[in-house]
Amino acid sequence: MQGLMMDMPLLISSILQHADRHFGDTEIVSRRVEGDIHRYTYSQCHQRARRVADALTRLGVHNGDRIATLAWNGYRHMELYYAVGGMGAVAHTINPRLHPDQIAWIVNHAGDSYLAFDTTFLPIIEAIAAKCPTVKGWIAMIDADKHPVSDKIPNLINYETLLSGGNDDFQWPELDERSAVALCYTSGTTGNPKGAMYSHRSTVLHAYAAALPDAMGASSRDSILPVVPMFHVNAWGLPYTAPMVGAKMVFPGPALDGKSLYELFETEGVTFSAGVPTVWLGLLQHVKQHDLKFSTFKRTVIGGSACPPAMIRTFNDDYGVEVVHAWGMTELSPLGTLSKLAGKHQKLSPAAQQKILEKQGHVIYGIDMKIVGDDGQDLPWDGTTFGNLLVRGPWVIKEYFKGEGGDPLVYDKEGRGWFPTGDVATIDADGYMQITDRSKDVIKSGGEWISSIDLENLAIAHPAVANAAVIGVAHPKWDERPLLIVARKPGAEVTREELLKFYEGKIAKFWMPDDVQFVDAIPLGATGKILKTRLREQFKDYTLPTA
Ligand code: AMP
Repeated sequence: MQGLMMDMPLLISSILQHADRHFGDTEIVSRRVEGDIHRYTYSQCHQRARRVADALTRLGVHNGDRIATLAWNGYRHMELYYAVGGMGAVAHTINPRLHPDQIAWIVNHAGDSYLAFDTTFLPIIEAIAAKCPTVKGWIAMIDADKHPVSDKIPNLINYETLLSGGNDDFQWPELDERSAVALCYTSGTTGNPKGAMYSHRSTVLHAYAAALPDAMGASSRDSILPVVPMFHVNAWGLPYTAPMVGAKMVFPGPALDGKSLYELFETEGVTFSAGVPTVWLGLLQHVKQHDLKFSTFKRTVIGGSACPPAMIRTFNDDYGVEVVHAWGMTELSPLGTLSKLAGKHQKLSPAAQQKILEKQGHVIYGIDMKIVGDDGQDLPWDGTTFGNLLVRGPWVIKEYFKGEGGDPLVYDKEGRGWFPTGDVATIDADGYMQITDRSKDVIKSGGEWISSIDLENLAIAHPAVANAAVIGVAHPKWDERPLLIVARKPGAEVTREELLKFYEGKIAKFWMPDDVQFVDAIPLGATGKILKTRLREQFKDYTLPTA
């Protein structure tokens, strides 16, 4: 027997429509590349998004066409998310921190028909325009009177001029909820990047899930500033979650330094934010240096790479900001787990609670996870056994765009597909997951595994350390041993011996790094993660003193 409920498709256009009707006067505030602060409301955003959708239709954009963006977090980018996705085309966000050749490769692989960009990235567009034959026009997202001129870019269109030719009586089409809405390529630290193609359904379900109290806990009382970029996994879904719940949005644009962020946090009453650990280093340094406090900022989600426990403590103890440590991936839209205390943890000591909050956390309803050994057999949830982390759920990819790389899933006895995350993790009896490492970064020493993340977190807690990375180096007896690579804070002194001593009593003896090397800076990739591939290359001729 069938249920007798309405079959209303889950479409992203309905989110903005809802925000317009019910939170129409709630603000979206953006720092712009023009240099000023722009403010308008959800109603105005909805009106302009419909105009853009109409204007793109007039340009000949069809269902399924890919429209790329190379842009900061801002209101025009938000309009494009909804205009492009809502009309049935695909909003393809590209990370401008990639090398121009990689960007051109991605544009060509996706077959983008238009590309909209913030003018900060004009030099990139000039470098790639001639190499991207599928792109029919390049759209500069800037006021018409500041429109750039370039003889290297054919068909350079102004966003505001384009928009003014569109009609705001445009009606959002009733699409199949499984149709594509957005495309994001993985960071591709190995091999070519691969595209994760999100659907309307996956995006709306992810937005609902992200809003839950034990996930991001977003509400209409919040003022949300996503530091996490809209060019990487849709700013963790916040451009969908915020309008769904009617939260105010604050976009930092190109200014991601501590001072500019702090200013926006204070002037716009920001209560909630999200970003990778590296962006918070700048903000924390700024507030510490100037002896500032946050007057409204209450909580932040930190993920994308392991959040150092020292950062969780500083936010909480010094500034009264709750850190919610989260784990996710481009292939998961991206949220998988978040760490919040359950009811049963309320009576634990602060130290025991902190240990739980340092983990990557509990799955949100919708995601199923397990850890398996190299033989594919399930491993116990005891908080100590490491295994390969597999996930499934309605916002997890089942294959990459254009079938790139073949079928990525592994199948269980019942024939259900699981996505292998490439992460190694433990899961405790309460279901809290902790990432030990990327499977290719875990250090295999004499048949035992050593977590490079744990060693890095401990090193970062040393007051003289700006950033640290641990890699495995070949060893004749043990296969691999850990090498600690450290960038010191400017002007700070710390020796190899002092750092090794700092580990004593905090780790198992066999985890102790065999050596320490100092570098000026730890190389970071386009999404702020440590580039271990580059470090391995840099230290390929290095021999451990113990070898
Ligand atoms: P990306 O698809 O570029 O967002 O990268 C996803 C990968 O980042 C994951 O597979 C993890 O290896 C890593 N990652 C994300 N969040 C965390 C976290 N909280 N702790 C450790 N690693 C993380």
